[in-house]
Amino acid sequence: MQSFGYGSYITASLTLYMQYDLHTHSTVSDGTMTPTELVQHAGKNGVDVLALTDHDSTGGINEAMDAARATGISLIGGVEISVKWERMTVHILGLDIDPGGATLQEGLARLRVSRQWRAEEIGRKLDKAGFQNAYEGAKKYASGQLIGRAHFARYIVECGKASTVSDVFRKYLVKNKPGHVTGQWATLEDAVGWITDAGGYAVIAHPGRYKMSATKFRRFIEQFRENGGVGIEVVSGSHSPSDRHNMAQYAKRYGLYASQGSDYHGPENPWIEIGRLQDLPEGCKPVWALWS
Ligand code: AMP
Ligand code: MN
Ligand code: MN
Ligand code: MN
Repeated sequence: MQSFGYGSYITASLTLYMQYDLHTHSTVSDGTMTPTELVQHAGKNGVDVLALTDHDSTGGINEAMDAARATGISLIGGVEISVKWERMTVHILGLDIDPGGATLQEGLARLRVSRQWRAEEIGRKLDKAGFQNAYEGAKKYASGQLIGRAHFARYIVECGKASTVSDVFRKYLVKNKPGHVTGQWATLEDAVGWITDAGGYAVIAHPGRYKMSATKFRRFIEQFRENGGVGIEVVSGSHSPSDRHNMAQYAKRYGLYASQGSDYHGPENPWIEIGRLQDLPEGCKPVWALWS
């Protein structure tokens, strides 16, 4: 039995009633709400602790912090880093990071240069496939900080060449499709290192989405841990109930802290809502125990 001091007993009791959403996006990456709108929306939905985790950028954190102070919710600085591991793209969340961390900022800046290169390349390939000025079109949907595939997808829907953003991904933006370009992302070691160096906690994002064999997934978790990774998303907007159950088992087996986040990108995706999450399964150690 673990023994708790009186203080941690009170903390545990209080945090039990707090609503956490530790994975969200703003217009700084491919979300559709500004950091301020996102925080206000989270507040309306009863979120007490929110992490802003834009792709490869911490550019929205300061604005979100100000909005959170005004809204009375607690804002955790975060980021979602694009990683290439064994020829797959995976995402690693950094939670409770200091956005002033120099190594982190140098690394993220490098990733945004790669993103810019990839966006121009996607634009050229889509133009060859019959679009006109796809890059310029996608850019209109981006706030100017970075361009991702979601911005291309919104433009192609506007062009009437597909009816939904998911259709665009399926038809144009994934492997073996005309607008696919392999991203040049961070190594697992770098991403976890940058996060740790910035005082944050590295967490495997939406593990249920990765198409890995069980053997490969165990290798991934082991390398993630060897590099200093400490957490895994157990509850995610893109997890099925069985993903949640499986990831809780992995968390326990590998001694990882469990995280929960909607991966909210905006109201266009009505099946994912900020702060509407299932509880962590029994026996999971919540990742927020690391900072609260
Ligand atoms: P990127 O990091 O630019 O390669 O884009 C990845 C992002 O695209 C994800 O974070 C999602 O926001 C979005 N995305 C990926 N796959 C899909 C899909 N099948 N349908 C809708 N959005 C997707
Ligand atoms: Mn996204
Ligand atoms: Mn992701
Ligand atoms: Mn995300």
